[in-house]
Amino acid sequence: LQHEVIIVGAGVAGIYQLYRLLEMGVDVTVLEAGSGPGGTWYWNRYPGCRFDSESYTYGYSFSKELMNEWNWSEHFSGQPETLRYLEHVVEKFDLRKHMQFGLWILKLSDGRNLTTRFLFTAIGMLSAPTMPTISGVEDFKGEAFHTYYWPKEPVEFAGKKVGVIGTGATAVQLIGEIADKVDELTVFQRRPNWCAPLHNRPIDEGEMARIKASYDEILARCHETPGGFIHGPDRRKFSEVPEKERLAFWEELYNSSGFGVWLGNFRDVLVNEEPNEEFTKFVADKIRLRVNDPVIAEKLIPKDHGFGTRRVPMETNYYEAYNRDNVYLIDINDTPIERITKAGIKTTEHEFAFDIIVYATGFDAITGAFDRIDFTGVAGRKLADKWIDGPLTYLGLQSTGFPNLITLAGPQGGSVATNFPRGIEEAVDWATALLKHVRKNGYNRVEPTEAAEEEWTAHVKQTYEWSLLGNAKSWFTGYNSNVNGHDKVRYMIYNGGALRYRKRLAEVAENNYRGFDLR
Ligand code: NAP
Repeated sequence: LQHEVIIVGAGVAGIYQLYRLLEMGVDVTVLEAGSGPGGTWYWNRYPGCRFDSESYTYGYSFSKELMNEWNWSEHFSGQPETLRYLEHVVEKFDLRKHMQFGLWILKLSDGRNLTTRFLFTAIGMLSAPTMPTISGVEDFKGEAFHTYYWPKEPVEFAGKKVGVIGTGATAVQLIGEIADKVDELTVFQRRPNWCAPLHNRPIDEGEMARIKASYDEILARCHETPGGFIHGPDRRKFSEVPEKERLAFWEELYNSSGFGVWLGNFRDVLVNEEPNEEFTKFVADKIRLRVNDPVIAEKLIPKDHGFGTRRVPMETNYYEAYNRDNVYLIDINDTPIERITKAGIKTTEHEFAFDIIVYATGFDAITGAFDRIDFTGVAGRKLADKWIDGPLTYLGLQSTGFPNLITLAGPQGGSVATNFPRGIEEAVDWATALLKHVRKNGYNRVEPTEAAEEEWTAHVKQTYEWSLLGNAKSWFTGYNSNVNGHDKVRYMIYNGGALRYRKRLAEVAENNYRGFDLR
């Protein structure tokens, strides 16, 4: 079986790349491990799962017809609706017949070997979930789920005692959603995050019509912000604005919907210590106002990092959940988890009995999905070995020694730090143009030079010094306590923003794909 291109993954990136390549008449197939398309939206079915992007900035922009026919029912759409949207895109453009489900790598699990000239990965950035390295996980007799592998059938919460490990963006959504549906909820927290209210609301027919009429402006706005959201930094600096005005602005940000509170702040809030500390205090006071018990409030306030220096979980009723009589917060710094038992979770202080344990423990982010596949390059070199201390790439789209492997949504690319569909549309369009160039010139081989890779990787490293996000320990900086060796900084993401990344991609293409060795 011979293909010109194989795409691995039928999520947001894989679907769009397939559409573009079919349009070019390329012989292409998509391999997908799930039993249907959707990627992250296929897998993450946990209660409360939704995105923090405004729905109308998350849909694809390549088809006006698609934009005009699809109605979003909420400003921040939930997982079931987003999955329906992606399935709709697949049906509408008749893409399903080019997809093979339940498959993964090229030496396929069904024994077939597929060969291809080009391999495009669209395997996601948060698609290799990690379980905590706590002993006894197998012993628990009740129901247990990692949020990523949430069952397709509804989980019955009524009358159940539920334990949740983790307080990242996933847990924060889930906790807000199930607190009033369970008998008891116990949250095991290691490090709290700075969370802020999402302020989601329904979109009615009239509003949807207005959104459709302004798609051009909405997308133009996303195009001009570093994150690809409608929210971009306020041009003013913190110190330029008198205190009264500043507090009023912050109040407005906190009360407005979406990522404005994180990405629409004064331009130095995520860059300089002093403004960051001031805003951090402002948000800490909000938490104190929202949580009745001052001891619990203090536990929920992060002390090891400033606001926005890790990915800000957007929440609905998260802090209020802790005001309920049936919700408990266990700080595992005070009473560490010793093990999972048959009955539940045993800390140094107490054994908690549960009907359900939820592992909201996150992902081996960005490179984890690559490490799971045995990519073998020139001279038998393994990609996982090459990236053992962190990824090395050119533009986040290729790695030297792995010719013709195009890493959409790969480490050190621009799309992984943006409103994903906005960033990935650009990466896909760029990769599509590269393939056109390759075909037109009759090349067979695309590979970045070592010099180009070194320069890009050094540049990515430099972008970690441009904001306070580079200092905090999170998946942005490659930390994961559950993965061996991931206890130091890894340069995973291009932090220079979408505008700079777009400019760079254009420059490279205009200069005959500078940095690529094309043969
Ligand atoms: P995460 O942010 O990595 O959070 C994992 C949580 O589990 C952290 O609180 C972590 O604590 C805790 N944890 C991990 N191992 C543990 C252990 N052994 N013992 C105790 N606690 C442990 O993962 P996530 O919440 O799944 O979110 C990942 C990313 O997915 C987000 O940052 C976001 O980009 C994306 N996401 C997006 C949305 C959305 O669009 N709204 C929703 C969900 C997720 P520490 O902090 O101490 O490590």
